[in-house]
Amino acid sequence: MVRTEIDDSLRLKLKEVFGYNQFRGEQENIIRNILAGRNTFVIMPTGAGKSLCYQLPALVKDGTAIVISPLIALMKNQVDQLNAVGINAQFLNSTLSKSEANKVKKQLLAGEVKLLYVAPESLTKEENIDLLQSCHLSFAAIDEAHCISEWGHDFRPEYRRIRSIVEQLGDGLPIIALTATATPKVRADIQKNLSMEDADVFLSSFFRENLYYEVRPKVNPQKQLIKFIKQHKGQSGIIYCLSRKKVEEIAEFLRVNDVKALPYHAGMDASIRMNNQDGFLNEDVDVIVATIAFGMGIDKPDVRFVIHYDVPKSLEGYYQETGRAGRDGIESQCLMFFSPKDIQKLEKFNKDKPVTERDNARLLLQEMSYYSNSSVCRPRQLLHYFGENMGKNCGHCDNCRRKHEEFEGKDAVLLSLKAILQTGQRFGIEHIINVIMGIDDQYVNSYNHNSLEVYGKGSNEDKAYWETVIRQAMILNFIQKDTDNIKILKVTDEGLDYMDSPSAVMLTKDHDYSNEQVEEN
Ligand code: ADP
Ligand code: ZN
Repeated sequence: MVRTEIDDSLRLKLKEVFGYNQFRGEQENIIRNILAGRNTFVIMPTGAGKSLCYQLPALVKDGTAIVISPLIALMKNQVDQLNAVGINAQFLNSTLSKSEANKVKKQLLAGEVKLLYVAPESLTKEENIDLLQSCHLSFAAIDEAHCISEWGHDFRPEYRRIRSIVEQLGDGLPIIALTATATPKVRADIQKNLSMEDADVFLSSFFRENLYYEVRPKVNPQKQLIKFIKQHKGQSGIIYCLSRKKVEEIAEFLRVNDVKALPYHAGMDASIRMNNQDGFLNEDVDVIVATIAFGMGIDKPDVRFVIHYDVPKSLEGYYQETGRAGRDGIESQCLMFFSPKDIQKLEKFNKDKPVTERDNARLLLQEMSYYSNSSVCRPRQLLHYFGENMGKNCGHCDNCRRKHEEFEGKDAVLLSLKAILQTGQRFGIEHIINVIMGIDDQYVNSYNHNSLEVYGKGSNEDKAYWETVIRQAMILNFIQKDTDNIKILKVTDEGLDYMDSPSAVMLTKDHDYSNEQVEEN
């Protein structure tokens, strides 16, 4: 077939089966890549249309595509939707009865199923491996692929077994891995764990122009919340809280204040939970107050605000949750209430975790905390965290709208770069700052870093100042995290160029929320 015929037949399928007139973003290239039998890695923000990237090629290719997804609740949704448009899609997971499972197996063996959704824990079952070995498979799609990495925010150990199982299922079965949240470190981890370093990577921009990010100090949050909601009367919104108890409390608080609000969390009776979710989707209520259990697979286009009443555990989670606002492209607000006390609370929760998990959770929290305090453009920080360089500010987040105190940072940036180089590019931000400030620290002394030229050169400024400088030098791409060990800082080529021919650079002071007052009416 010549290329245009393929294009035409893909477009035709897109229209006939899914009802869409054109592909979005990279969808067509991704689909073509899979049809060519190549390993494919897709990183696309939530709502951008990842599902179609494996659903459509599954229809075109001979055999059954297996879709590995950790979200059992969503499988049924997707399968129902596909069945509704006449596609034979099925799922295998722990919710099926024996006879239901047998029915699916029969259809599989008869080669009738185009897409089979499986949970990773079902995939690892011996009998299912045997079954799939007897089927003709087209490719394997791995959804929520970030679950494979310990460095991500949602590590699932059973994801680590996917590669070896896929290998058992068929020689050279192509893989498509998809995720909506992956830092460069997590991306590298995914490719390594799935042995798909050779994959073609499709990385979409994560910038959502219509989202207005804002962080406010959490001083009197209930009052702040009600004021915000009254200003957005009648609009759809999601309020995320950390605990189930808080969810109930805030939902009740809103109700007594005449806001149409309902709670949602995993501890509620399933029927009530579904009822509340439907109430939100059907617009019987305006506001849903929820834990992070709410939102996966929710595709309500006109969510006008997402509020984080408590500080979330990671920027990954935060970005994904705020991404549920404004899917229709219309201006929407993403507001977070920040309090250092929330960070401390979360740190306490982490105490009982195993060491690696605890260390990682701590790193994620540090990033969260730094994001909240920083006065750099919010989307620019978020995108930088996910490895994307915006190169400019969004122009409409709280930090862009408000003038922050600036300072000339050339000498400070140069000193930071020098300190990283002189210590051999093997240390993290805390160590670098200790050296710059000339702290009499055992660790610093044991490396003889107290004899370096840079030692103590920055003792006139405090720790927060140096953290600001180094973090902003990272956003300017002069410094980057090491890809093997993200705690280690390294100087980039751009950083080296800057050292050769330095120029003035304006940095902004961080927020000092302790001095900020909540605006009153
Ligand atoms: P993701 O998995 O990336 O979060 P989905 O696959 O759920 O996103 O898609 C988000 C929404 O976009 C869905 O409502 C889907 O039907 C719609 N969509 C996907 N591709 C297209 C397209 N080419 N044209 C129009 N709508 C699309
Ligand atoms: Zn901005």
